[in-house]
Amino acid sequence: MAETGEAPRAVILTVDDDPGVSRAVARDLRRRYGGDHRVVRAETAASALDALREMKLRGDLVAVILADYRMPQMNGIEFLEQAMDVYPGARRVLLTAYADTGAAIDAINVVDLDHYLLKPWDPPEEKLYPVVDDLLETWLASDHRPVPETKVVGHRWSAHSSEVREFLARNQVPYRWYASDEPEGRRLLAAAGEDGLRLPLVVTPDGECLVEPDGTQLAARVGLATDPSSEFYDLIVIGGGPAGLGAAVYGASEGLRTVLVERTATGGQAGQSSRIENYLGFPDGVSGAQLTERARRQAARFGAEMLTAREVTGLEVNGASRTVRFSDGSAISAHTVILATGVSYRQLDAPGVAGLTGRGVYYGSALTEAAGCAGNDVYIVGGANSAGQAAVYLARGARSVTVLVRADSLARSMSHYLVQQIAEVPSIGVRTATEVVEAHGTDHLERITLRDTATGRTEQVDAQWLFVFIGAAPLTDWLEGVVVRDGRGFVVAGPDLSPGGHPPASWPLDRAPYHLETSVPGVFVAGDARSESAKRVASAVGEGAMAVMLVHRYLERL
Ligand SMILES: Cc1cc2nc3c(=O)[nH]c(=O)nc-3n(C[C@H](O)[C@H](O)[C@H](O)COP(=O)(O)OP(=O)(O)OC[C@H]3O[C@@H](n4cnc5c(N)ncnc54)[C@H](O)[C@@H]3O)c2cc1C
Repeated sequence: MAETGEAPRAVILTVDDDPGVSRAVARDLRRRYGGDHRVVRAETAASALDALREMKLRGDLVAVILADYRMPQMNGIEFLEQAMDVYPGARRVLLTAYADTGAAIDAINVVDLDHYLLKPWDPPEEKLYPVVDDLLETWLASDHRPVPETKVVGHRWSAHSSEVREFLARNQVPYRWYASDEPEGRRLLAAAGEDGLRLPLVVTPDGECLVEPDGTQLAARVGLATDPSSEFYDLIVIGGGPAGLGAAVYGASEGLRTVLVERTATGGQAGQSSRIENYLGFPDGVSGAQLTERARRQAARFGAEMLTAREVTGLEVNGASRTVRFSDGSAISAHTVILATGVSYRQLDAPGVAGLTGRGVYYGSALTEAAGCAGNDVYIVGGANSAGQAAVYLARGARSVTVLVRADSLARSMSHYLVQQIAEVPSIGVRTATEVVEAHGTDHLERITLRDTATGRTEQVDAQWLFVFIGAAPLTDWLEGVVVRDGRGFVVAGPDLSPGGHPPASWPLDRAPYHLETSVPGVFVAGDARSESAKRVASAVGEGAMAVMLVHRYLERL
């Protein structure tokens, strides 16, 4: 198979088993259409179908297919029938000898043929170009936008498909979603040689197929760095939320060799906020994704290295060096470490919920799932600001949004401005003194059981969407025995380590721990992971910056 032309333009494909004829058709097509189109030629139906499947996966456009009728193994009609499964929108032309016109006429019905051309087509100006011009015009009039970005084919109610979409969205990787049971989803699966039993299928912009990928595979293939470039740094920042990004920006801009390690996507909790209205300098609010994406670019511009989809599972102290171990056993070391691991959503502990997570029950993925909720009834569990923001955001598309809170009013736990916003949206309802006690459904969420906390009365309601925002806890078990943590797992730092005026017995230095320093010298904590922290974006960013200042002080006295 040979190709001509370089730009990613719509393809005109021609297949003929006679090499001389094949070259002649391609030459004539190229002469007239080579400027605006890519002319691809094949000499067997099988290689033409392979080329079409590859183009499908890469997201290329195919405008016109010209196939010879008499080909061995597969005739032109059979070929066009299969080509239609891949590119139903491409216009179809059969090249025939005079003796085969009967077959060509039959093909008009079988493969919805647009035209048949008698060989030879000389002069092309009279016999070939007017036909192709006409077909290109028809093709252009229909909607065939290229899909150069990553494509995800999955099942609407599949936890793994939902995780992959969330991962791509939070890492700002543009993607297009196809349900596995819609025609284009089926075509992509067929082009990848998949039967749809293993989902999701992710097709990268250059046509590579990943079946049921994990975060690390996905990150590496969509252009996110996963491997460190060095074994030793001045500063390792663990966690890519506002605190970690703040630390990376200040660390790298002040000349420290800085690496930031993030287990899912930079942005942290803030990246999941639809609208942050109380961050300094943004009077009209800013989406968390926008704010943190800017911070990520800023950190990268200053030279901070950023590793995505890498989870830290261990911290070791080896003399003056601090070693951070990853879940795959590999490690990197540095003079200093900033723990900025924040908090993770608390799970709703009710029968049925765990099995339906990602299948109608979601933790914090309101932004990714919003499109799917359009026109549906949505339930939100939780009474804090994160639940309020999600309610306002989802109400833009959902038929109704019901906020379920255990307390007798929202005012106890939600900021006043959000309570007011909720009151102004007619499609948002609030059910106080209510808790979810069970989730029901086979493949996906179908119903939830609600309990009135005052009367104890239970009731089942139909529900396909349940978003849970019931607080968060730090995931710091991997720090057990390394740094001092409080009873809830938050990392204790600075003066809080010395409640009676004395640091813990394990503290090895004459000086007291610096303000954000943990019980291990040179290891600092910033943001929500810190015991008694403010749990705000601004304070997390501020602590990230301050921790870097203390890193400098530590390094000066090393
Ligand atoms: C929906 C929502 C809306 C909010 N709205 C507001 C608001 O309007 N205003 C406001 O001020 N605050 C708001 N907050 C709170 C604010 O987002 C947090 O206080 C802030 O994000 C804390 O930043 P952080 O960097 O400390 O932690 P996080 O944002 O939690 O980030 C921690 C990061 O560390 C990563 N991580 C954790 N463990 C590991 C590990 N072992 N290895 C590698 N990486 C790890 C996590 O994946 C995460 O990305 C909101 C929170 C939520 C959930």
